[in-house]
Amino acid sequence: MQTTLVYLKGVGPERARLLKEELNLRTFEDLLHFFPNRYIDRTRFYSINDIPRNNTEIQIKGKITSVNYIDQKRGKRMVASFEDETGQIELVWFRGYRWIRDQLKINESYIIFGRLNWFRGKASMPHPEIELESNFQKNTKISFYPIYPSTEKLINKGLSQKVVQKMVVQLIEKQKTPFSETLPTSLLNQYKLISKDEAIRQIHFPKNQHVLTRAQMRLKFEEFFYMQMQLVLKKVQRKQKIKGHEFKKVGSNFNNFFKLLPYNLTNAQKRVIKDIRFDMGTGRQMNRLLQGDVGSGKTIVALLLMLIALDNDYQACLIAPTEILAQQHYQSVVDQIKKLNITVALLTGSSVKKERQEIHHGLQNGELNILIGTHAVFEDKVQFKNLGLSIIDEQHRFGVAQRARIWKKNELPPHILVMTATPIPRTFAMSIYGDLDLSVINELPPGRKKIKTLHRTDSNRLKVFAFIKEQINIGKQVYVVYPLIQESSNLDYKDLMDGYASLSRSFPVPNYHISIVHGQMKSKDKVFEMERFIKGKTQIMVATTVIEVGVNVPNASVMIIESAERFGLSQLHQLRGRVGRGADQSYCILMTGSKISHEALTRMKTMSSSNDGFEIAEVDLKLRGPGNLMGTQQSGLLKFKIADLIKDHPLLKAAREETMRILELDPSLKIADHQCIKKTLAGLKFDSNIWNFIS
Ligand code: ADP
Ligand code: MG
Repeated sequence: MQTTLVYLKGVGPERARLLKEELNLRTFEDLLHFFPNRYIDRTRFYSINDIPRNNTEIQIKGKITSVNYIDQKRGKRMVASFEDETGQIELVWFRGYRWIRDQLKINESYIIFGRLNWFRGKASMPHPEIELESNFQKNTKISFYPIYPSTEKLINKGLSQKVVQKMVVQLIEKQKTPFSETLPTSLLNQYKLISKDEAIRQIHFPKNQHVLTRAQMRLKFEEFFYMQMQLVLKKVQRKQKIKGHEFKKVGSNFNNFFKLLPYNLTNAQKRVIKDIRFDMGTGRQMNRLLQGDVGSGKTIVALLLMLIALDNDYQACLIAPTEILAQQHYQSVVDQIKKLNITVALLTGSSVKKERQEIHHGLQNGELNILIGTHAVFEDKVQFKNLGLSIIDEQHRFGVAQRARIWKKNELPPHILVMTATPIPRTFAMSIYGDLDLSVINELPPGRKKIKTLHRTDSNRLKVFAFIKEQINIGKQVYVVYPLIQESSNLDYKDLMDGYASLSRSFPVPNYHISIVHGQMKSKDKVFEMERFIKGKTQIMVATTVIEVGVNVPNASVMIIESAERFGLSQLHQLRGRVGRGADQSYCILMTGSKISHEALTRMKTMSSSNDGFEIAEVDLKLRGPGNLMGTQQSGLLKFKIADLIKDHPLLKAAREETMRILELDPSLKIADHQCIKKTLAGLKFDSNIWNFIS
């Protein structure tokens, strides 16, 4: 099964290389698990007057009535007229026709099969497969004709459907004994699944629709099952094997700070802190995802947890995806811990050399307790004396490699908490991030009012401006956000600058002051502008999505999103989350042109009707598919061969439940019926390395 495809008849090194490059197919096993993405029913014949009006593969029964040659630029083409009782169509050969011509019999009944080519309202069929009806029955064993995923390059290089098909036929015929079973008998029985052997044979060349469906179901279940097995096993192993720093106590830093908190924690915050405290006290390394909708108060949880690390004589760090956010975290931590005897530093891309050196030094000799920063923290030069806890805020903004690097900072890995406001629908979170522990803050601090969200078009702009004025007059602040899809797009910048100019005219100094922040500014200037807004010196903040994540200015009560139709739902929700952080009524106004697509309208309606990140994520998932869930694009986890996270969700749930049940019953897979699992796992390549901090 692990034999490389070079050794398959008709493949050879060149084709093997192409298959590897284009489709990632390397071995016999890979090819057997390369499933058709659709099938053509070869038991079905079309009447010529009834053929589909698009370029699709069909089969017709009829007679060749004449053959002609037509001169063309280079050489000739052969055209045969093919008729049935209902009409006529042309069969065309551009090459190799001499040989075919000799075989063709006029006025005998043929079955032809091929792809239609519509041109100027007329259909023809180039290079059809053609067979005398009398031979058809005995030669055509395939009643459902598999169509495999392919690429332009493969087709150009002669690796046609037919060639791929032949390769698969060869493999299947070669296999004299049944393909070995990969699922335990207990599961096959319980879910009435067909055997692996039958599934493999039927998925490529199904006898009929019924067996095809059963083959698909069996293989989907298997795919989910092994994904879950790997995730859950990984989690179990991590818990058994990976030692972690043991945070034995909660001490004065935590307790003193807790007493000074100006508000009570929500029950959800308390529960999460308790869970995490426990987790960090077990002597095993923690790897946890903290989910909480925008504004649910994750930052204070992070700070309290860092204080626990300090109470146990460890250092802690908090990493944010943008400089603005890191700066803001730093400022708020510094403000909040004034009364404690703690040292904090900020390390970002724009920290100057001298600052950096001092920070490096302080981290190494342990004088610095807490480091807050951006990607800069991941650099190898940044070494800690004893880093006990790493918290990554807005984890979906980070790449895979960066997150893994924090692992290597010390001999023993720090506890890792990744926080995200990106709502992954509950049902998916555990399946996708199955190897992490999960905590959810499912409650907002009390007194928050629902953000009123309105959809307005450009014709309402004057009213919108009047509304902004009203809010500013009662002491509130306003964000106006422009899309910046591409950093380099001049057009996008023009929108932003035009908007800024127009606002400056309507809200002139000295009564009004406007801040502006965008990606092309120096980070020093960004921080300066942000500061002015935070301190209330400016009333309006014009910005691109650099302020999308994390920014916290509770006095801001209006979020205007320009060209809102250009944003995805999760981004709109994140942006809206910048307001509604205080106790007053907040507003989000989605500005769009008057003509927007149906899908965009659905997004606006969803935003206007819901404030619940999870609900919005469900809609997003339906609109865009799971591949676009933030933070999961790179994971590889969502690239299934045959299963579909949305459509086959019940199977995923079943597979997860069975995985848990089996591992609980038989953690080291000793039972005879489970040997096939052990064997299959050993042969799997685990390519979903997003959470793979360990390896
Ligand atoms: P997010 O989860 O989006 O990161 P933040 O941590 O920025 O949210 O918190 C949003 C706001 O809520 C902050 O102003 C914070 O001080 C405040 N906050 C957090 N927890 C509570 C609480 N339990 N009661 C009242 N306000 C809170
Ligand atoms: Mg936050």
